[in-house]
Amino acid sequence: MTINIEKELKRMSEEFNIPEKDVISNWRSFVRFAWSKSIFKLEFMKQHSEKVKNDNPRSMKRYPYVTKYECNICKGLFSVVEVDLDHVCGENTMKSLGDAEPFFHTIAFPSYSDLQILCKDKKKKVKGKSQVVHFGCHGVKTYSERYGVSLEQAKFEKQALEIIKQKQDKQWLLDRGITPESTQAKRREQIVQTLLNDDL
Ligand SMILES: [Zn+2]
Repeated sequence: MTINIEKELKRMSEEFNIPEKDVISNWRSFVRFAWSKSIFKLEFMKQHSEKVKNDNPRSMKRYPYVTKYECNICKGLFSVVEVDLDHVCGENTMKSLGDAEPFFHTIAFPSYSDLQILCKDKKKKVKGKSQVVHFGCHGVKTYSERYGVSLEQAKFEKQALEIIKQKQDKQWLLDRGITPESTQAKRREQIVQTLLNDDL
């Protein structure tokens, strides 16, 4: 027997009197949750982990070695909470019940070569405000795919957005001897351009 997921979800949406948009959003989390518990995911993570010396002074005595995962883009080593397991083949969207089955298939039945470990954004509370202190390769990759820009450009665009979010854009430019433009959009471009030039 094969299950027609679209048909079944449609039937249940009617029988249970739940709007289709709620069923769609729930299917997304249902599939993602199932994948997070998948033995294939766990095994992939295990095979891409390594034990390294713990250099955290607060815990190194109790745990001399810790498990770390290598980010496939920046090659940095991160703990399990600092990484995501990414599906290489791009953003997966599910906009209608018709997408339910392909979405399920891409997320829960990937090929081994479709997976990679990527580091996540790291945030820190500075003066009560949450600030991004490390732009993770996962977010950078997603941004670069969504807007069709290089990974490098994506990273700088994200940095510029964060600087603007923290209302530091004018000061950031002044600190570098640049006269801030009049609009936020133009200042954002100035910041990205400066970061790109610095990187050359
Ligand atoms: Zn990374």
